[in-house]
Amino acid sequence: MSSVAEIFGSMVFNDSVMKERLPKGTYTAMQKTIKDGKLLDIEVATVVANAMKDWAIEKGATHFTHWFQPMTGITAEKHDSFISPTSDGKIIMEFSGKELVRGEPDASSFPSGGLRATFEARGYTAWDPTSYAFIKDKTFCIPTAFCSYGGEALDKKTPLLRSMQAINIQAMRVLKLFGNADVTSIKTTVGPEQEYFLIDKEVYEKRRDLIYTGRTLFGSRPPKGQELDDHYFGIIKPRVKDFMEDLDNELWKLGILAKTEHNEVAPAQHELAPIFTTTNIAVDHNQLTMELMQKVAKRHNLVCLLHEKPFAGVNGSGKHNNWSISTNTGVNLLEPGETPSENAQFLLFLCSVIKAVDDYQELLRVSVASAANDHRLGANEAPPAVISVFLGDELTEILTAIDSGSAYADRVKEQMTIGVDVLPHFPKDTTDRNRTSPFAFTGNKFEFRMPGSSLSIAGPNFVLNTAVAEILKQFADELEGAKDFTAALNSLVKKTISEHKRIIFNGNGYDDAWIMEALKRGLPNLKTTPDCLPSFISDKSFKLFTAHNVLTETEIKSRYEIVMENYTKVINIEALTMLDMAKKDIMPAVSAYSKTLSDTANSKKAFISNADCTYEAETLKNLARGAANLYNKTADLEKVLLDAKEHPEATELAFYYKDNVIPAMSELRISADELETITAKSYWPYPSYGDLLFSVK
Ligand code: ADP
Ligand code: MG
Repeated sequence: MSSVAEIFGSMVFNDSVMKERLPKGTYTAMQKTIKDGKLLDIEVATVVANAMKDWAIEKGATHFTHWFQPMTGITAEKHDSFISPTSDGKIIMEFSGKELVRGEPDASSFPSGGLRATFEARGYTAWDPTSYAFIKDKTFCIPTAFCSYGGEALDKKTPLLRSMQAINIQAMRVLKLFGNADVTSIKTTVGPEQEYFLIDKEVYEKRRDLIYTGRTLFGSRPPKGQELDDHYFGIIKPRVKDFMEDLDNELWKLGILAKTEHNEVAPAQHELAPIFTTTNIAVDHNQLTMELMQKVAKRHNLVCLLHEKPFAGVNGSGKHNNWSISTNTGVNLLEPGETPSENAQFLLFLCSVIKAVDDYQELLRVSVASAANDHRLGANEAPPAVISVFLGDELTEILTAIDSGSAYADRVKEQMTIGVDVLPHFPKDTTDRNRTSPFAFTGNKFEFRMPGSSLSIAGPNFVLNTAVAEILKQFADELEGAKDFTAALNSLVKKTISEHKRIIFNGNGYDDAWIMEALKRGLPNLKTTPDCLPSFISDKSFKLFTAHNVLTETEIKSRYEIVMENYTKVINIEALTMLDMAKKDIMPAVSAYSKTLSDTANSKKAFISNADCTYEAETLKNLARGAANLYNKTADLEKVLLDAKEHPEATELAFYYKDNVIPAMSELRISADELETITAKSYWPYPSYGDLLFSVK
């Protein structure tokens, strides 16, 4: 077997392959494109395409595809083979520069939120040369952005790439003010920690709810759940270990820096963390990771559940989005430095994130909104729906001292002048196990903990990048005009802390007292998707995204529509699945079991005089009561779904589903789960929670 070093990136057309295979001039042109975003001309693209094809064919590829990320949240690909007919009836393998640079998938069935109706029916894909092409399943995959013919973004990637440009422009202005002559660009970096569940394929296939919706819609609590905390970081079972090894191997081939794998809090729950990389690459890699997790699981007769909340009463899965900003010279701008100037710069960037999160908290909430994630946020297992920033005690103390003009603890005798004095050393908050904070500073990066496990992280990152770009712009506007830079910097930092300290919270985010306190501080608590989404189509949102050329008003409106409609559709599918299961499986199972009990009682009476049939009679009574209740709840849900037709408008309909359909589903679930506890296991039509959660031995 080859070594990890040999395997790593072996299926990626990366820098070393380019260096080896491209003529020097072409390689240099490609470098310029990748590093500085210079447009590649078609002659160069043709040379690159040819080298790509030769390499891909040597590696066993027969097809190529423009790999893109439509608004469905998953990736899409349409395969074309490399073959091209020749006049003598044979074929040659061809791949042109044009085919590399641009593709035209038949995209009419992807969600566009009305965009294609307004503009053009077809969309096109454009090569993103900053993310390396790779081979997957004998197909050479070219990462692309997906747009309409009018140039409107139809995917998750376009706004992300635009936001990276936006933050680059503004951060460069700020960096210039601090000197930094050697820095020519910045990029944001992301390391997403991915949580997931693994269950046995055999039990999975017996649950239509898991198959149709990705989560269990019924199921009473098992006698053992996660209360003993014995799964977290526990010993990994051999089958899971095999899966993880296989997965690592596949990810490494694609140059994905899979690093840490461990068990999570809930039984059957695990996590994979990669080493961080440039944001757009991290997004691509995360999409591939999710895809491969599911694919590799199948090979091991397992199913990987990426849903945010597969099991009620058991922790759901999230995706911690670790985020920072790096210069092309390798400096992490959220790393406290050694010199007064470095520290001043650090403080300013830190303040820009704090202010961005405070000013645009609703938009960050929007960026993680989905029907599935609504089950996690605020359910005391993931951060609350209220956004706050955790800084840790040391850093908070420093900021408080700056704000109040007092000395920082005993360590600094006099008040600090930012940009003149060295920031007192503070230990990295390695003790940060405040898992309750939605947005935590963890020493040299921020960890945004609200994204759900199945979400494409393009969304949260383009919002974050744009919000921070806007604040850096405001900072640069103010500082560029200043006569005395140090004095202006001091007052800007001070003012920012004082105006935005309401967003800083280091306590327990699960505490009800915090929710009350947050209310007092004026922080919004947008619990559900319909509650938060309208802020996406507010003037504030239009202003932010258009000012930085990240999204147009039309693009924002179309995205709003897609997310709102998706919310309703997801719940509708869940409700229909519940009805199907209740009517076709659960009711008949309860009837069959009831009949057995009554048959048993009758035969007891026939054979034994004065037979005691208390057990049968009492159970039958409970089953009859439960069945009637289940029948009523089924009818209630059916009626609520029927009445939904009276709300044709998308936003109103989403609220209707939230306020009427979800409660009716909960009621139905409660009645079915009660029946599960009194029905004999052999009659119950589905594997229980215990069977599912402990299915992997
Ligand atoms: P945790 O304690 O939350 O498990 P880790 O220290 O293991 O955190 O790191 C979590 C993730 O943060 C990893 O994916 C890591 O690569 C990423 N990370 C570290 N530094 C940065 C950075 N500068 N920018 C973005 N992500 C980073
Ligand atoms: Mg983490």
